[in-house]
Amino acid sequence: MAFFRKKKEIPVGLWMKCPSCGKMAFTKTVEENLHVCPDCDHHMKVNGPTRLRQLLDDRKYEAIGEDLEPRDLLRFKEDVGTYEDKLKKSRLKAGVTEAVTVGRGHLEGIAVTVAAMDFSFRGGSMGVVVGERIARGAEDALARRVPFLVVATSGGARMQEGALSLMQMAKTSAMIARLREEGIPYLVVLADPCTGGVSASFAAQGDVTFAEPGALIGFAGPRVIQNTIKAQLPEGFQRAEFLLAKGYVDRVVHRRDLKKELATVLRYLEPRARPQEAVG
Ligand SMILES: [Zn+2]
Repeated sequence: MAFFRKKKEIPVGLWMKCPSCGKMAFTKTVEENLHVCPDCDHHMKVNGPTRLRQLLDDRKYEAIGEDLEPRDLLRFKEDVGTYEDKLKKSRLKAGVTEAVTVGRGHLEGIAVTVAAMDFSFRGGSMGVVVGERIARGAEDALARRVPFLVVATSGGARMQEGALSLMQMAKTSAMIARLREEGIPYLVVLADPCTGGVSASFAAQGDVTFAEPGALIGFAGPRVIQNTIKAQLPEGFQRAEFLLAKGYVDRVVHRRDLKKELATVLRYLEPRARPQEAVG
């Protein structure tokens, strides 16, 4: 009899561990459950394309702005590797070309343009291309006079793009203002976590703001605030449910109900018709 049992080989990707409760689950089961833990209901992070497929009819969308890819415009000095190297690694790891994927599709039969951010690509940080893709998504919604939806998750601005990154806050906000002027509905879903420049720009400007259960939402993180104000923060501070009670968030919605609830609200908010061309 052997003293040691050989560790059983588990094929990579067949099982996954919930980051919240630590329980193992079949990857396929988790995927079928829209990446929500079957044990503890923890809403896991999903990438942009997955989110679009979860929300749109027939899991189909027509991508917008995929040809735009980030570049090291500032030749940012890094301790290890260059920004270009990091971008390459992020593309491989996250399986996307940037921290947001934008597409046209239908949600319960309603034509929409949707932008879904991705925390696994450089912490969902907003650089020039993220800002431009969001702006193009808004422009597409405006041109087609269909609602614009954003699923926002972000750690903040893209450090390596410096001030250019911060400018995206003004640029995206200007586009959202145009949607409002033209009477085009704009809905936001805040996913875990949504912080920094994204939370302080387009993610805060929805006509209706949804959030996923347990999502961390705020500008600076709780530790930074606690250290600054030297006071104990209340229980659940900056979580979706806390912000619902404070009126910052309109609805906290389980991922399984998200599509249905978005469709319900969209049916109330019909885009204003295109203004009549002046005659004569
Ligand atoms: Zn779990």
